[in-house]
Amino acid sequence: MAEHFKPVKYRAWEMSLEERFKEVYPPLTQREAEAEANRCLYCYDAPCMVACPTHIDIPTFIKKIGTGNVKGSARTILESNLMGATCARVCPVDVLCEGSCVLREEKPIAIGRLQRYATDYANEREIRFFEKGKPNGKKVAVIGAGPAGLSCAGELAKTGFDVTVFEKRTWAGGLSTYGIVVFREPVEVSLREVKMIQDLGVQVKCGVEIGKDIDFDEIMSEFDAVFVSIGLGRVPQMEIPGEDAEGVLDGLDFIEETKVDRLDKIDVGQRVCIIGAGNTAIDCATIARRLGSERVTMIYRRSEAEMPAYYFEYQFALKEGVSFMFLTQPIEVIKNARGQVEGLKCVRMDLGQPDASGRRSPVRVPDSEFVVPCDRVIKAIGQNKPKDFMDILAPLGVQQAKGYIAVDPATNRTGNQKIYAGGDCVRSFGEASTVMAVQDGKIAAKAIARELVSIEGENK
Ligand SMILES: Cc1cc2nc3c(=O)[nH]c(=O)nc-3n(C[C@H](O)[C@H](O)[C@H](O)COP(=O)(O)OP(=O)(O)OC[C@H]3O[C@@H](n4cnc5c(N)ncnc54)[C@H](O)[C@@H]3O)c2cc1C
Repeated sequence: MAEHFKPVKYRAWEMSLEERFKEVYPPLTQREAEAEANRCLYCYDAPCMVACPTHIDIPTFIKKIGTGNVKGSARTILESNLMGATCARVCPVDVLCEGSCVLREEKPIAIGRLQRYATDYANEREIRFFEKGKPNGKKVAVIGAGPAGLSCAGELAKTGFDVTVFEKRTWAGGLSTYGIVVFREPVEVSLREVKMIQDLGVQVKCGVEIGKDIDFDEIMSEFDAVFVSIGLGRVPQMEIPGEDAEGVLDGLDFIEETKVDRLDKIDVGQRVCIIGAGNTAIDCATIARRLGSERVTMIYRRSEAEMPAYYFEYQFALKEGVSFMFLTQPIEVIKNARGQVEGLKCVRMDLGQPDASGRRSPVRVPDSEFVVPCDRVIKAIGQNKPKDFMDILAPLGVQQAKGYIAVDPATNRTGNQKIYAGGDCVRSFGEASTVMAVQDGKIAAKAIARELVSIEGENK
């Protein structure tokens, strides 16, 4: 059951827009970081380290902070996870490292914030711990510069590969740059990580879409291996009447606007309906509140128990004054004579039998239609699967799993010997997250090195 908070009130005279979009948690001071680090018990079996998908040596990096060796601490983190500064901010720590801390019943060690303290120290000063390995004469192409691609590229460069990353957007960083709300991760944090990867000798070519600007066949003939890390697509259509109305927004576009545009230029409306109840939907809702919308309502067709958002995100939204309408399905966007949104027609739902996902399916309650008055509708119902890219890969022997690219989880290799893949585009089961994408990149880099370069370092 949700805890009940007194919602935050955002009034222009109390907090400026810039302040509302600053990182929610301020950085730890040296004194705070050392005090927190010294609470760590340095457990012999370190459950936190087991829970971290990238297996960062957490007790060691914390110990180093406790002894004032912040640079050494950052090195320990980045040895296992080159995207350590992003992960420090976005990882669901309460279900991973902090959730397994032996002190969790009283107060777990603030591992995420300590990791941020150490990695920011190194990244802000451009302290570099690793360099490009001795060239091994092999070339790898990475398609997509999100966390999966950058992690793979960085690890390969460390072992001597000549790596080129192709990115279709203007900036690299994937969703860390364009998709994670700015008060969780500012753009600079992601771009500093990109710079670190470039400083390893990786070429990052932005504004190049593979499959459009360069044919995939060309990449296949020029490189010894290819890592596909293209993430997922835009938010799918809801397929309801009125969806084309002015004021219906794509949730990812909306978040992106707040990361790359001037905040005072964004007109989000006063009464906003958000469709969906995952983390993206929560992000859209909290942004809308912080931009000044008076009433923000999240509309979800199942119940609170089935909502996909992390519990801490849900609590955060409640605290921000977001309302929730559960067991409610939108069926039509109502427009005025000028074609602008003026309401969302919904229908009440009940829960029936469990579907393939194991969750009880929502079924319509007859004659239960009603209209929620609103001036914006933001769609946040997930992302499209990589269908277009699958069409390019399928003739090359790459299989798909539920619409995602199928890989062998031990190597992240696809059905084609030369093509590897990782990150959201392969996540056919389990939760898509940054840390999993980073680990995929590491797994593939290791497998590529094993395949293309012999253990003794001789070329195959
Ligand atoms: C709104 C939102 C909030 C999130 N919040 C969290 C969170 O709090 N914690 C968390 O752990 N995870 C979160 N996630 C998930 C996380 O961002 C992803 O799991 C992670 O970014 C996946 O990394 P990736 O490298 O696989 O893909 P992406 O980050 O999507 O990067 C893929 C890159 O490939 C590029 N690309 C695509 N096609 C091509 C092509 N043909 N040619 C060249 N480049 C191409 C794209 O432009 C993009 O830059 C969130 C996701 C969203 C959408």
